[in-house]
Amino acid sequence: MLSMKHLRRLDIIRRHLQQYNTKTISSNAGQYDYDLVVIGGGSGGLSCAKEGAGLGKRVAVLDYVSPSVQGTTWGLGGTCVNVGCIPKKLMHHAAQLGEAIQISDKYGWSISGEISHSWETLVQNVQNHVRSLNWGHRVQLQEKSVKYFNAKGSFQDKHTIKATAKDGQETIITTENVVIAVGGRPRYPDNVPGAREHGVSSDDIFSLSKSPGKTLVVGASYVALECAGFLTGLGFDTSVMVRSVYLRGFDQQMGDLIAANMRDHGTKFIERSVPKAIEKQQDGKLNVEWRNLESDETHEDSFDTVLFAIGRDPETSFLQLDKAGVEMDPKSKKIIVDEKERTSVANIYGIGDVIHNRPELTPVAIMAGKLLARRIFGGSNQMMDYTKIPTTVFTPLEYSSVGLSEEDAMSKCGEDNTEVYHAFYKPLEYTVGEKDASQCYIKAVCDRNNNSVLGLHFLGPHAGEVMQGFAAAMSCGLTYDQLSSTIGIHPTSAEEIVKLNITKRSGEDPNVTGC
Ligand code: FAD
Ligand code: NDP
Repeated sequence: MLSMKHLRRLDIIRRHLQQYNTKTISSNAGQYDYDLVVIGGGSGGLSCAKEGAGLGKRVAVLDYVSPSVQGTTWGLGGTCVNVGCIPKKLMHHAAQLGEAIQISDKYGWSISGEISHSWETLVQNVQNHVRSLNWGHRVQLQEKSVKYFNAKGSFQDKHTIKATAKDGQETIITTENVVIAVGGRPRYPDNVPGAREHGVSSDDIFSLSKSPGKTLVVGASYVALECAGFLTGLGFDTSVMVRSVYLRGFDQQMGDLIAANMRDHGTKFIERSVPKAIEKQQDGKLNVEWRNLESDETHEDSFDTVLFAIGRDPETSFLQLDKAGVEMDPKSKKIIVDEKERTSVANIYGIGDVIHNRPELTPVAIMAGKLLARRIFGGSNQMMDYTKIPTTVFTPLEYSSVGLSEEDAMSKCGEDNTEVYHAFYKPLEYTVGEKDASQCYIKAVCDRNNNSVLGLHFLGPHAGEVMQGFAAAMSCGLTYDQLSSTIGIHPTSAEEIVKLNITKRSGEDPNVTGC
């Protein structure tokens, strides 16, 4: 007699089989302990494991967090949940609340007494939420009958994984398929004395037990600008050390506007510079020496915290990929996969941040993991589409984009064939709040030949919320005519996108006025 649990499970399998109108792929899985072993329990790995189990397969996940350089560790769920998107967005929100308090009097609120912020309270509440997510992931794995090993995986051969637990205990697991989803970790410079001893990274900042104080952020991309943004917003004296440009790889006009906005709101920028050395002083402060790359002059200042946000390296060194024959890119040390996420070894796949030349974003890893499981076990042919991926940079003034930057469109289509519609606008809530809207800006980058929208860029409040729907339209092949014939939702900032009508080429004033 089958229990309710088994009946439910059979029903899930039946529905999946109907969905793909196919039989499960016959395999010689019987000779292995598992049909699928996923190494890495982050965004991509968990998604792939759960999907595989939902298709009735025997799945195991290995997840192990090696302590950060400063000794920080965390639970199941990977970078996004523990030291990435989630704590970052909550801290960004905390900073935005502070900004809202500052202008709330214009809206009639009177907040008496001294307004102060407690870093310790913020960290405690953010970490409580993170722990609830760790727990949630464990429960979900259990519910889906995915075996979880809190152990570090490495290859013995292409079907055999060694799981090494914290206490050194080793378990050998055999599997028909392997998915590598080990993500990456923050990089430290190797030519800066004191960097590893005294510098923290995004692995540490969200759980620092004492407030960061005066902070130097090294790097000028996503992680650096987001962290500098919320630290400034929470009241810390924050400087960003920029080696070359802001937000490399993004539309550079937008990067410049973000930096201008941050500067206007108190973040300091040390341009064209790299750190030389960090030394701890007797009072515990960190003396940082840096070099200006243009003048070659050396400068110094002291900080309470130095945060390195200079990129991330894949966690491939422990995997012993050579034992399985999996190829890596020699420079990035990331895994090379084909369009089906297959590595150089037929039964071994890779997804997420560990993959060479793919965007490092949570929804990308999640979707890639889900589609991969469906292809391996569900007979699906659906590939992961890595084009037109929307993303948001959660700086104080948020920036969201999908598709090509103006520079990329110009080099792809040529200057004459690229039309850029743009507008500076004032969000309604800024008016009564008397907030400066100098950097609230939108542009649509279009192909003049067929009118298709190649890239959309939005700098303003709630940018991520604004862009998600437009990203759906972009993936359906949005044209400028369709965009401009869409009815706006009034009064919103998002409606300014459908109202775009001034081209850069025209030289007309792009400042939107009136209702
Ligand atoms: P991960 O989530 O990193 O998971 C990999 C897991 O594998 C980890 O738990 C790791 O410890 C474990 N592991 C490593 N080696 C082994 C091994 N040998 N055996 C067992 N386990 C192992 N993306 C967004 O979309 N939006 C954001 O707002 C955003 N903000 C971010 C903010 C910060 C500060 C950072 C650093 C990243 C942010 N990202 C954001 C990126 C996002 O977090 C990653 O793209 C995503 O987590 C990648 O998922 P993944 O599954 O590839 O790897
Ligand atoms: P990036 O690789 O994007 O940027 C690295 C930054 O550090 C660049 O500004 C680079 O400057 C600078 N840099 C590199 N080496 C040095 C050095 N030796 N000295 C000084 N500066 C240096 O890394 P991030 O850590 O910012 O982000 C990693 C990934 O995480 C991103 O690609 C993104 O996909 C993901 N992420 C996503 C977020 C989101 O969705 N909101 C938020 C945060 C991260 P230069 O330009 O000169 O090379």
